[in-house]
Amino acid sequence: SNVFIPPYIASRVDGGMVIPFFQAESRLGTRIASQTWVSASGTRNVIRKQLIVLTTSGIYHVLPLGLRVQEKIERIINITMASLCASKLSLSTLSSSKLWKQTGRWEKYGQELFRLTDRKSSEFCLCPTHEEEITNLIANEILSYRQLPLRLYQIGRKFRDEKRPRGGLLRGREFLMNDLYTFDASEAAAMQTYDAVQAAYYRLFKTIGVPFVVAEAESGNIGGDKSHEYHYLSSSIPEFGALLTIGGEDKVLVCERCNYAVNTERSSSPQCLQCGSQMHEKSAIEVGHTFHLGTRYSEALGAFVTAEDPSIRSAIQMGCHGIGVSRLVVAIADICRGSRGLCWPVSVAPWETVIVTAGQEEGAEQVWDLLKDYTDSVIDDRQKTLGWKLKDAEAVGYPVTVIVGHSKG
Ligand code: ATP
Ligand code: MG
Ligand code: MG
Ligand code: MG
Repeated sequence: SNVFIPPYIASRVDGGMVIPFFQAESRLGTRIASQTWVSASGTRNVIRKQLIVLTTSGIYHVLPLGLRVQEKIERIINITMASLCASKLSLSTLSSSKLWKQTGRWEKYGQELFRLTDRKSSEFCLCPTHEEEITNLIANEILSYRQLPLRLYQIGRKFRDEKRPRGGLLRGREFLMNDLYTFDASEAAAMQTYDAVQAAYYRLFKTIGVPFVVAEAESGNIGGDKSHEYHYLSSSIPEFGALLTIGGEDKVLVCERCNYAVNTERSSSPQCLQCGSQMHEKSAIEVGHTFHLGTRYSEALGAFVTAEDPSIRSAIQMGCHGIGVSRLVVAIADICRGSRGLCWPVSVAPWETVIVTAGQEEGAEQVWDLLKDYTDSVIDDRQKTLGWKLKDAEAVGYPVTVIVGHSKG
């Protein structure tokens, strides 16, 4: 079977900034088309110049290498969502103030909400999250308990006018989130859904492969009563020999005996709630969040279903669950790196394998052909020395490097 990899446009930005773009030169797929070398000043440059480029505070472009990582993460999310029987949809970005006023969040969200008015002076916001819109959609479409349970998700852009945007995509004002919304007819069913989502999130973060903790959490602006967060810790992670230099903004208490964790926003007791041992405070980055919402949004927006006895109508039990997709790209890059470059986990590496030529390229194409059913690989046949290309491969952080060349003797 012929594998066709769509072409990448080769290009180069003027002004001396070097950005890797990739180009397909044959049916064999992708080849590196221009320089990707980063200065010895370190891996931060790899993140800044090769994955994303900031255009202005908290707003960025995703470059080809960053987009490949993002798409790998999205693929893991899609598989996880399928395991929950969740259907993918895409909700509008612009939302009328009407629904937000009904839930009280037009005021409550404060300055973080990007607001705008149209030519008729009607008020809108750029959605920072989608509880209002999805609950309104469901209120109009789902009328009977027989239509539940229902699980819907999207991977889409969110807008929050963050007070202190930082670390590139770590805290962007425009960022990519996977948001899952769950709808159940009873509280007991909603709790089962919550447990299923938690188990799925756990598997997802295991699949990515970067160590994480699950912490009990406060529900914040979203509201609701049961909630957990998924955190990457800033403290050193021995498996990768590195630490999160950008620094997490959350503080999490972790029990070193039983691994129970809790966000300090929720509890400040040092005593572990599960085993009574000492808790240690660590700074952390929130990469995912699950909430049981109950009926907070369904009641406010009139999302009710009839029960078996049609004279009884009850508010739908909801849950909402988010994963910071663009935050993950940067957090993983920063955690998984060594002194000479990034070290992508295989799960999300832009390419799993780089095939570096030491001279003759037919050999490289044969190797590419041989590997194509097993691994996702890119050929580096640029007119550079082998040493230069190996250094570059180390900076980009491909999990596997294959060198193609003649053996001496
Ligand atoms: P934070 O505490 O970092 O401000 P949050 O609790 O406000 O995040 P949620 O509303 O729980 O965020 O959104 C779900 C996920 O979206 C978060 O777990 C996080 O990974 C991601 N996220 C939130 N805000 C941003 C942002 N400004 N830039 C990038 N990712 C974000
Ligand atoms: Mg926030
Ligand atoms: Mg938070
Ligand atoms: Mg959160």
